[in-house]
Amino acid sequence: MLRERIYERLPVALQNAAVSFEGWRLKRLRFNAEFFRILAEYEKRMFASRDEVCGLRDRRIAEFVAHAAATTPYYRQSFARLGIDPQEIRGLADLARLPVLTKAEVQADSARFLSEAYLGAATVPVHTSGSTGAGLRFPAAIRGNREHWAVWYRYYRWHGIDYGTPCIHFGGRSVVPIEQSRPPFWRYNRALGQLLLSAYHLSDATAASYLAAMREFDAPWIHGYPSFVALAAGYALELGVRLNIRYVTLCAENVLPQQEDLIEAAFGVRPLQHYGMAEGVANASMCPQRKLHIDEDFAAWEFVEEPDAVTSIVGTNFANPAFPLIRYKVGDTATFDPAATCDCGRPGRIVDAIDGRQEDYIVTDKGARIGRLDHVFKDMVHVREAQLVQDEPGRMTVRIVKGPGYTDDDERRLRAEMRARVGEDVSFDVAYVDAISRTSRGKLRFVVSSLASGKIGVGTPLS
Ligand SMILES: [Zn+2]
Repeated sequence: MLRERIYERLPVALQNAAVSFEGWRLKRLRFNAEFFRILAEYEKRMFASRDEVCGLRDRRIAEFVAHAAATTPYYRQSFARLGIDPQEIRGLADLARLPVLTKAEVQADSARFLSEAYLGAATVPVHTSGSTGAGLRFPAAIRGNREHWAVWYRYYRWHGIDYGTPCIHFGGRSVVPIEQSRPPFWRYNRALGQLLLSAYHLSDATAASYLAAMREFDAPWIHGYPSFVALAAGYALELGVRLNIRYVTLCAENVLPQQEDLIEAAFGVRPLQHYGMAEGVANASMCPQRKLHIDEDFAAWEFVEEPDAVTSIVGTNFANPAFPLIRYKVGDTATFDPAATCDCGRPGRIVDAIDGRQEDYIVTDKGARIGRLDHVFKDMVHVREAQLVQDEPGRMTVRIVKGPGYTDDDERRLRAEMRARVGEDVSFDVAYVDAISRTSRGKLRFVVSSLASGKIGVGTPLS
């Protein structure tokens, strides 16, 4: 928090230097010789047979379960209680003998998931807001973190995006102070070759300046949240701005068909997507035939049928021995046909569709749209669930289900974080509820909006 306050007071040139310095630190941490070795191993398996990669996956599961049972208090106790010998878990099929783990269980007891083998070891701190808005903090093994980047770069390279390609980044980090009212609404990360756009300043009034900055930066690659990229795409069409974009990759949210159409119309390329999350329990990457292949060598992905005919994504993060998550329920649902095939030759099973994580916008009293507000809940480990409800522009209700340890301090932080993102153009109440109801398909909608302008594609020109 203090670091952020100091950052906000720096002149823009020093903010750019701070962003680049952080980029340089991350580059050294993530993209060293070990990363390129792991990437080469991953690429060797690109056209391996399904038996080969699933064999590797099963060996990693067996080793990982034994490690978790031997070095973490949670699993040590859990295996004893279940009366299961960890040695009996030899692959994906055997995992079904173990219980499914919810995020709430991990949040309530996260210290007991830490592997004793990593106590005192250098790790990478990871935090997640997740699709339900509840936060989780945990350590990632340094090698595991590099492996996570390697699986992503294997996918980028399938499409011709090599390491080092300059990128226009549509992420959720607040790189520009919210009260800033004039351009530049972006910062430069020189170390990683990124133009970082602020997700919190794009509106009718500022769109032309964003597009001019993108044109000047002249990178061939756009990467980021679909709701944000699609918003910029709408403005590019409206203002007739053309850019030389060769690749658009989307992440972190489910992609709506209207968003794909809008992005293709504006930037001339069909966007690519992968599915993944900070916990690293499941990952799938789109191949050149536009099928989503599970990265079997990175994590153990299971489809678990729920009583109400939905299929939950459940995964095991065997690349991160520092914080083992076995059969962790991601909170997203998917459509899966085990018989589906792809003629690209890649070995991973194919996911038909990810049904979770669709997002709407909150609309300010001036008509600007703000997406991806689940970032407000990043690190808020005492919030169990959150939902934003909007029935009129410039007003919303923040529904909160309190988790263990929630205090007045959490509410103060929540209000400050929310205020930092929505500014003075949206007023809000905080309402505490016992539970947040699900949709008919078992999903928790993060934003519930009755405003037509809160939904992408409605009133947005497609050509
Ligand atoms: Zn394929």
